[in-house]
Amino acid sequence: MGEPLVPRMQGFGTTIFAEMSALAVATGSINLGQGFPDTDGPPTMLETAVEAIRSGGNQYPPGPGLPELREAVAAQRLARYGLEFDPAAEVFVTVGATEGIAASVLALAGPGDEVIVFEPYYDSYAATIALAGAIRRPVTLRPVEGRFTFDPDELRAAVGPRTRVILVNSPHNPAGTVFTREELDVIAGVCREHDLIAITDEVYEYLTFDDVEHIPLATLDGMRERTVSVSSTGKTFSVTGWKTGWVTAPARYIRAVQTVKQFLTYATGGPWQRATAYALQNELPWVEELRTSLQAKRDRLITGLEAAGFATYRPQGTYFVQADIRPLGFSDGMELARALPDKAGVVAIPTQVFYDHAEAGAHFVRFAFCKKDEVIDEAVERLARLH
Ligand SMILES: *Cc1c(COP(=O)(O)O)cnc(C)c1O
Repeated sequence: MGEPLVPRMQGFGTTIFAEMSALAVATGSINLGQGFPDTDGPPTMLETAVEAIRSGGNQYPPGPGLPELREAVAAQRLARYGLEFDPAAEVFVTVGATEGIAASVLALAGPGDEVIVFEPYYDSYAATIALAGAIRRPVTLRPVEGRFTFDPDELRAAVGPRTRVILVNSPHNPAGTVFTREELDVIAGVCREHDLIAITDEVYEYLTFDDVEHIPLATLDGMRERTVSVSSTGKTFSVTGWKTGWVTAPARYIRAVQTVKQFLTYATGGPWQRATAYALQNELPWVEELRTSLQAKRDRLITGLEAAGFATYRPQGTYFVQADIRPLGFSDGMELARALPDKAGVVAIPTQVFYDHAEAGAHFVRFAFCKKDEVIDEAVERLARLH
């Protein structure tokens, strides 16, 4: 018997996260690879989930999501961004942002259609586009004056007759960039000119630093009608295991996404939905504290990485710092990431795995700072052994 996996999914075997996390365990290393917090979400939100389970909220919720969560999401989009969505027709709950993005791509891009992504890209994008039989067209983010950005001409050149969708992740994992209004204007202009649909991944919408503002693409001229926005509870409330997300979009896109989602998972876990609705209404001050604390952790990790000899890019949002390994005398991030557990007892992710053009990211590794201060301190102390 031959390879059972369909050809379009071959090459997506084991993710780098599995490899690196296994290496962390095997070597007793500190894992600054995978981006999950080592502290819990707001206690009252956790209690609301427990209470939902105890009080019988354990059968199938409505396919599109609990009304109370869809209303809380609509209220949040309106209060924070001035964007109005009808909770009954324009808000839709998914199994994390991952399913929201997957269902959107599967609904909106078919075999042979092209999807533009900014590389380095979040790893699920490439697999989801492949699953759809669509083709990804990467536009490379490169460091310019300490921050990763794209060349507008390269974006325009990536659009062809088969381009259907542009996937926009801001705040951007793993580059740490929060797109400015000027950058978003370029993206919006391309969408309007070529009649593209934008799918926006906004899971870090609250986690921006130094007064940098997250601007949803849907707020730009002519974009609300062609944008499918995805957010989730995992990063906002530090519960990455809850896998509860939502999509906001014009009703015709929601109907398309729903058509796919109903046969992927049908519905999303009820207790998490109830607790997320509660948290969106009551725990945003907690998120502001999380944001402030993450900003301090970012600075703590950067100070340590610089002292250890890395050159770093200060992210404007997310959980991650990009570190250039060349000042330490290394050139291949993959090689270094595989050796780092033995050399220093720390695990990082080689950024090149998030590119089609791996050479553009060859000399970067990604460190996560959503960790306790003492974990960050111990990691940078160990990394100081590198030089
Ligand atoms: C974590 C993450 C996701 C996944 O979110 P879930 O709600 O856990 O599915 C999606 N996109 C980006 C950029 C992420 O960092």
